[in-house]
Amino acid sequence: MNPINELKTKIENCRLCALSQSRRNFVFGDGNPQSPILFIGEAPGEQEDLRGIPFVGRAGQLLDKLLAEIDLQRSDVFIANVLKCRPPANRDPLPEEIALCEPYLHEQIRIINPKVIVALGRIAGKTLLKKDLALKEMRGKTLQYQGVDLMVTYHPAAILRNMNMLNMIQDDFRILKDKYWSRR
Ligand code: URA
Repeated sequence: MNPINELKTKIENCRLCALSQSRRNFVFGDGNPQSPILFIGEAPGEQEDLRGIPFVGRAGQLLDKLLAEIDLQRSDVFIANVLKCRPPANRDPLPEEIALCEPYLHEQIRIINPKVIVALGRIAGKTLLKKDLALKEMRGKTLQYQGVDLMVTYHPAAILRNMNMLNMIQDDFRILKDKYWSRR
């Protein structure tokens, strides 16, 4: 078994926090673990919890569209979340939930060893940076996570709430493609 599937098998029955009691599925991640590009979202929502796949609801459809605009599909990249289980009613992840779940994310990053991590939204950005910054303070810069380039952009769900911001995330995706994309 390859290392990413080995990790999935090892952690998918996790019972470390209470979210394991309400989840319908553990949402490990999806896509190509050889990709140079790793997207990190916040946590599964209702559709993701039902299907066990990240970003398959409305925000995920927008993510697919943004990828298509730069001639990529989800099978070209890897997509995961900070939390692997859905918080009830899609509330924000609690600090203790992040603390218990983030070792899994760090292990995913270590195995995938991407050229760039794209944090979608403030929660993913601040979890990786270990700094409580506003999104505006993180976006538009090349940051670092343990020697790997880190870009922080808007969460697609935030764009769905305010379509005026669409051009900003499109700009970020163009930079991502130009700077980091290659087949491995
Ligand atoms: N929002 C996220 O952050 N992740 C998902 O998988 C779906 C919606």
